[in-house]
Amino acid sequence: MFIIGCHLSVSKGYLAMGKEATSIGANTFQFFPRNPRGGASKPLVPEDVEGLRAWMDAHQFGPILCHGAYTMNGAAAREETRDFARRAIREDLAKAGQLPRCLYNFHPGAHVKQGVEAAVPLIADMVNQAMDQDPIPQYVLLETMAGKGTEVGRTFEELAAIIERVERKDRIGVCLDTCHVYDGGYDIVGDLDGVLAAFDEVIGLDRLHAVHLNDDKNPLGSHKDRHEKIGEGTIGLDAMAAIINHPKLRNLPFYLETPNELPGYAAEIALLKSLRKE
Ligand code: FE
Ligand code: FE
Ligand code: ZN
Repeated sequence: MFIIGCHLSVSKGYLAMGKEATSIGANTFQFFPRNPRGGASKPLVPEDVEGLRAWMDAHQFGPILCHGAYTMNGAAAREETRDFARRAIREDLAKAGQLPRCLYNFHPGAHVKQGVEAAVPLIADMVNQAMDQDPIPQYVLLETMAGKGTEVGRTFEELAAIIERVERKDRIGVCLDTCHVYDGGYDIVGDLDGVLAAFDEVIGLDRLHAVHLNDDKNPLGSHKDRHEKIGEGTIGLDAMAAIINHPKLRNLPFYLETPNELPGYAAEIALLKSLRKE
């Protein structure tokens, strides 16, 4: 089954996101559990969660994806910033763990001149304290990053170094963002097989549980992180078709984070479905 959806707003609740996804031809969605700039997380309404669960069952949904706030930086130099991140991710995991078939993804963080070596243990420690509770999502995913500024997670090695230090190894994984890896210097257009072989060697493809499907406004290795609409960027439609059909990727859930409103997402989902080989 082709599992495809896009980022939606949580403002009208969880069942509303399920219905919105179905209305645009999607069978999953991604959302922020709180205002992406930070701020308080609204408590779950049990009827809303049960409504979403029934909707997902009735409409053959794949796993949904909760995306941590961009402002969370467990590797920050300032202790207050790290403390906010530690509290936020712990709360997020508690919430996402109560949602039906919900995975959790977050940006590892930025080392802000302290160096990657200093950041890795800080990030792993944050993840360990957040995962030390139940229920939590089946998988907590580190997102592959573009390498903008001092972002950690641009290379597969950096992600592997964090995973190495995570205690609950059966619950930690990776979400591959096509725009970010291309920006990070991995040529998924010219050598998708080679990039996946490198991922397998360094991290292990068994840790890959989700894909952010985005085209890129900038060339390979540019470290800019500017998403483009599917087929309109430097990755292009042929590479997108190869990605969604690749034997090692095709069974993963795909989430669009392209610059679109709902009609644009509906059109992209229809386009990608037309390119999908069954
Ligand atoms: Fe992200
Ligand atoms: Fe992403
Ligand atoms: Zn991005």
